[in-house]
Amino acid sequence: MGKLAKSPWLLHYDGSSCNGCDIEVLACTTPVYDIERFGIINTGDPFQADILLITGGINSQSESVVKQIYSQMPNPKVVVAVGICACTGGIFKTCYNIKGGVDTVIPVDIYVPGCAARPQAIIDGVVKALALLEQKRADYAAQRRSASQEGGIVRGADQ
Ligand code: SF4
Repeated sequence: MGKLAKSPWLLHYDGSSCNGCDIEVLACTTPVYDIERFGIINTGDPFQADILLITGGINSQSESVVKQIYSQMPNPKVVVAVGICACTGGIFKTCYNIKGGVDTVIPVDIYVPGCAARPQAIIDGVVKALALLEQKRADYAAQRRSASQEGGIVRGADQ
């Protein structure tokens, strides 16, 4: 992983998890795993977030919230699905109120399987997300440059 242009801000949202994966996400922030060594700042504000980390499948209550959070995040952004429930719906997939994994409602960039996902796997997913975010930023900047030369408007890379 190369040098980052700025500290990435990370937003963690629980779609409908059993809390198992959320405990592992919390473990990543402790000195043992220390995810902040990558310069990451944990935020509760979608308007400031670059990376959305979601645990749990999507149910009828969380669907609109997840869509809203995603739409409020500035472009470019990266979504990481943590745990098999967030990846596919997992063991809750056939429940009456579960739609499925996160990608049933918003685009997902990185999938971290596991039940629960281990902190090492979560950190690996976040490091991949950081590399993808840098690539998206470069692509986005190139699009903006080319659009400004042509007098056009650039919409988000994910829109
Ligand atoms: S993947 Fe396992 S630990 Fe994580 S939310 Fe689903 S059931 Fe819970």
